[in-house]
Amino acid sequence: MLHDCFADEIAIDFPSVEPAVERMRNGFLGQCPGDEVDDLLRREVHVSRREAFDGLVVPIQVPIRGTCRRCGGRGETWTEPCDECRGTGALLLHHAVRVSLPPGVADGARFRFRVSSPGAASVRVEVRIVITNRVIE
Ligand SMILES: [Zn+2]
Repeated sequence: MLHDCFADEIAIDFPSVEPAVERMRNGFLGQCPGDEVDDLLRREVHVSRREAFDGLVVPIQVPIRGTCRRCGGRGETWTEPCDECRGTGALLLHHAVRVSLPPGVADGARFRFRVSSPGAASVRVEVRIVITNRVIE
């Protein structure tokens, strides 16, 4: 049983989401079959030894389920089913979150945080650091 140890909460302002971002939806669901925690989004971040030594900021795409803005969550526009959300009234929006890795981060280190947005379910994210032997010229 995982403890709820998400120290950081990142609040996202939903109206700032660009419409183009919404087109990227539905890309991540079902990525981790067999996970015992189904609302935990897991990401691996590959960094070089140099990057791990120096610390860096990595962008993470976090999908958040929100209300479809085309139909306002009704699932239909006028009398037609909304094709933007396929009549569900909900959309999976992807938010770019910047995760700061401290200098000297260890291989296999995990960072957890929660991304929340007004009117949408919060998403728990676990980032796992993988240090590669990639050489940066
Ligand atoms: Zn819709």
